[in-house]
Amino acid sequence: MKRPTILVLGAGYGGLSTVVKLQKTIGADDVDIVLINKNDYHYESTWLHEAAAGTMSPESVRYDIKSVIDNNKVKFVKAEVTEINIQEKVVTSSAGAHTYDYLVISLGFEGETFGITGLDKYAFSIANVKAARQIREHIEYQFATWSLEEEKDDSRLTIIVGGAGFTGIEFLGELGNRVPELCKEFDVPAEKVRVICVEAAPMVLPGFDPELVEYAVKQLKAKGIEFSIGTPVVEATPEGVNIKKGEDEFEFIKAGTVVWAAGVRGNRLIEQTGIENMRARVKVDKDLRAPGHSDVFIVGDCALMINEAVNRPYPPTAQIAMQQGDVCANNIIALIKGNPTTEFVPDLKGSIASLGDDDAIGTAFGKKFTGKKASFMKKMVDNRALYMIGGAGLAIKKGKFNLLK
Ligand code: FAD
Ligand code: NAD
Repeated sequence: MKRPTILVLGAGYGGLSTVVKLQKTIGADDVDIVLINKNDYHYESTWLHEAAAGTMSPESVRYDIKSVIDNNKVKFVKAEVTEINIQEKVVTSSAGAHTYDYLVISLGFEGETFGITGLDKYAFSIANVKAARQIREHIEYQFATWSLEEEKDDSRLTIIVGGAGFTGIEFLGELGNRVPELCKEFDVPAEKVRVICVEAAPMVLPGFDPELVEYAVKQLKAKGIEFSIGTPVVEATPEGVNIKKGEDEFEFIKAGTVVWAAGVRGNRLIEQTGIENMRARVKVDKDLRAPGHSDVFIVGDCALMINEAVNRPYPPTAQIAMQQGDVCANNIIALIKGNPTTEFVPDLKGSIASLGDDDAIGTAFGKKFTGKKASFMKKMVDNRALYMIGGAGLAIKKGKFNLLK
């Protein structure tokens, strides 16, 4: 009998966790495992704000996929997926056509612009390692150009961050540390630089613990970050952004850099599959399968699950993506062996947001943490993710060991 083929699309947290669990659990003679990813490296999406601000090199954020997969058990294909045809059971990529018995879609997130005019053209998004590198270099270019210009345009040195969710706040934390370095490097007086966070909701980190939010805002303000709260961005132009300040009141903020960190959606390829979705996220069955498609699993940011306790979707996080990868692998093995699948139940350990390399806020084990303790915990979480995928070797090679900074 032909061995079943398990085709995994995307080597982010969800895809790699699925593959690593499969390769640990099932023999090379029992299945063919194929992993397709557009790059030959995995990047830690959870560190992208550091690469974007320039506090970490883009190289530190990524590692070779082949270094964590068992190349005797998994065939890795470096290619861009262009179509997923679940009716014909064929995936098309830049490397050709791929058939499967079981499909795992783990193609991750894209920035969501909500159709706001100009954002896709004039704002940057912390979406992947190449985009992060471009943001870093764009900010450096603005500082270098200001320094050189005879007639100086100070708005070059204004950075707008749209959205004060976790991504926006973590990026601001890095900028708070990076801007003084940039000023020194490019001979720019610190008072010329403005970093402005524009948030639509009436508070920073909407829904998060108010005491921790207050701490974060205080710390970021102390580093010179300005906040404009309850003022949605309504337009981006080549010169900056328009924000709504009241019923008929708008303000234009001129800026050399606009970074859009105001939300994510699933990968657009999902929208062409014919599977019902909301912003490219599929409300998956409890065992992570696409409704009505017994051979298609969806994990990570392309999957949507409702937290019944609050009747709202679980937030798309790496924490959940990795846990789903594990359960997805077990469920595929169960199906191959003719056993029942199991339900995915998230085991939420808490949330920690960094405020630069030396500060953070978070909740874990029912307690609140701030400052160095929270920062230490965030680095431990980052290192744990490396360990879970690539073992001690990867954690030692790529981990964060300036734990007490
Ligand atoms: P991804 O990690 O996005 O991986 C998708 C993979 O698919 C990538 O390798 C990509 O290259 C590949 N791919 C995409 N399209 C194609 C294609 N067409 N063909 C082939 N390959 C393709 N979550 C936390 O839990 N904790 C945190 O601290 C945290 N910090 C974050 C910080 C930032 C700045 C951001 C942006 C997000 C953060 N998140 C965090 C959220 C977390 O990063 C995501 O939830 C997580 O990355 C989702 O994992 P995934 O496997 O679904 O997708
Ligand atoms: P988000 O959706 O959590 O936050 C987006 C923010 O942008 C919200 O505060 C929203 O009110 C604001 N916004 C929306 N439209 C706006 C507009 N027009 N103008 C101004 N502000 C606007 O998105 P995110 O921060 O990118 O996070 C995405 C996911 O990744 C979340 O699930 C988050 O939990 C996760 N994440 C986790 C961490 C962590 O655990 N440390 C870090 C980053 C991201």
